[in-house]
Amino acid sequence: MRIFNLFRKSNVKCPRCQGKGFVDWDDIRRLNRQLKWVPAPCAYCDATGKVEKELLSKVAVDCMYLTIDLPESVIEKIKEGDKETIEKGKQRELFVDHLIQYAEHHYLTQNMDAESIATLYLNTEAEKANFSVTKEELIKYIQGVINLKKSTLN
Ligand SMILES: [Zn+2]
Repeated sequence: MRIFNLFRKSNVKCPRCQGKGFVDWDDIRRLNRQLKWVPAPCAYCDATGKVEKELLSKVAVDCMYLTIDLPESVIEKIKEGDKETIEKGKQRELFVDHLIQYAEHHYLTQNMDAESIATLYLNTEAEKANFSVTKEELIKYIQGVINLKKSTLN
C-alpha cells in the first residue's frame, strides 16, 4: 500500500495528524478522542501526512474506528466506504461510548474505583455488550476514564 501511495495524487495536508504522519496527544485532544485513541502513526493518511481530497468526504477525520492497529484490508474497506465495515465501526464506538458513560456515572454518583466498576460491569452489562473485554483491560480503561474525568473537574 505504501508503494502505491507514491503514485497517488495526494495533495491535501492530512487533517487528522496535520501533516506529521503521527497522531499525538495534541491531535487526540483536538479531535476529542482522548478515551478512544492513543498516540500512533496516522491511519487516516497511512502515516504519509497527505491524503487525497476525496477521502475527506468519504471518511470522517475523527472516525474512531479507523486506527493504525486494524488490519490493512479493513483500513482499505473503511476508506472505500464499505457499509458493513463502517457499521461495525459504529457499533464499536457505541460500545465504547456506553462504557465511558457507565464508568463516569458510577464514579461520579457512587465514587467507585476502577476495579469495582469493572466488576459491576462484568456482572451486569457484559452479556449485553457486543464486544468482549478482559477484566484487566476493563480496569485499565475505566481508570483512564476516571483520570480524564478528574482532570476536567479540576
Ligand atoms: Zn494523517
